Amino acid sequence: MTAAPRTVCRFAPSPTGFLHLGHAHSALFGWRIAREAGGRFLLRIEDIDPQRCRPEFEAAILEDLAWLGLDWDGPVRRQSDHMDDYAAALDRLGRLGVLYPCFCSRKDIQEEIARAGYAPHLTPMGPEGPLYPGTCRRRDPIHAAARVAAGEPHAIRLDVAKAAAITGPLTWEEQGKGVVTADPGVLGDVVLARRDVRASYHLSVTVDDHLQGVTLVTRGRDLHPATHLHRLLQALLGLDVPEWRHHGLLTNDAGERLSKRDGATALRALREAGRTPAEVRSLAGFPE
Ligand code: GLU
Repeated sequence: MTAAPRTVCRFAPSPTGFLHLGHAHSALFGWRIAREAGGRFLLRIEDIDPQRCRPEFEAAILEDLAWLGLDWDGPVRRQSDHMDDYAAALDRLGRLGVLYPCFCSRKDIQEEIARAGYAPHLTPMGPEGPLYPGTCRRRDPIHAAARVAAGEPHAIRLDVAKAAAITGPLTWEEQGKGVVTADPGVLGDVVLARRDVRASYHLSVTVDDHLQGVTLVTRGRDLHPATHLHRLLQALLGLDVPEWRHHGLLTNDAGERLSKRDGATALRALREAGRTPAEVRSLAGFPE
């Protein structure tokens, strides 16, 4: 008889600002599940973007979480220390023939979408607007390879249709809800390596959840569309498949999702205003 795998959850903030109540909710959500199951709770700093991430925010995250009463197991994984892992995954995907270089700037993409007149067959729509229209997917691969060899800056995109044809249909287990059928094209041909950073959120999060042995990914409902794609990346890369639990999002008085702009809900601001950790846990949806 094999023992049931131990629950391993993680909280994976990006150090682009101070944590707010929405982050506290997410962190406590995963932490509670892990602790109640006698499992492990990991902390990962998602800092692949040197333009937006700052060491002082990373330090503040650790401090704020500890103040809130959270603890984590093992060392903190900092993504910027592990770029080789993402490069290896990218190589593997490249060998499957599911990647292509993309030379488009943001402006090129917007112009292409406008030119296509938002025609659904040319510009598929995603959860947050038009998706990448596929301009570079249609380029002659030999010509594109020559541009890459000449050192032209480019991102790397996933040819989602090609990738999904390799894996066939995929599903995942959404705890409390059941089996979800993945729709890997929901975000279109996403960027897996940026022009400036040879990785992207989608690639690094998928690789790390596997390498860290995460068995249950807990995160906000806003990332539900990304899970469709992450399931595809796992299948392509032969990675372990966790379960997921997407939680609801805290909102401000106007009913909008909390963001780093809602300064008053920053954990530091609440702490400086004299709130106790127990009060803040309660504000974050976890009363004693
Ligand atoms: N780093 C992501 C964020 O701060 C979260 C990633 C995840 O939980 O999958 O939104």
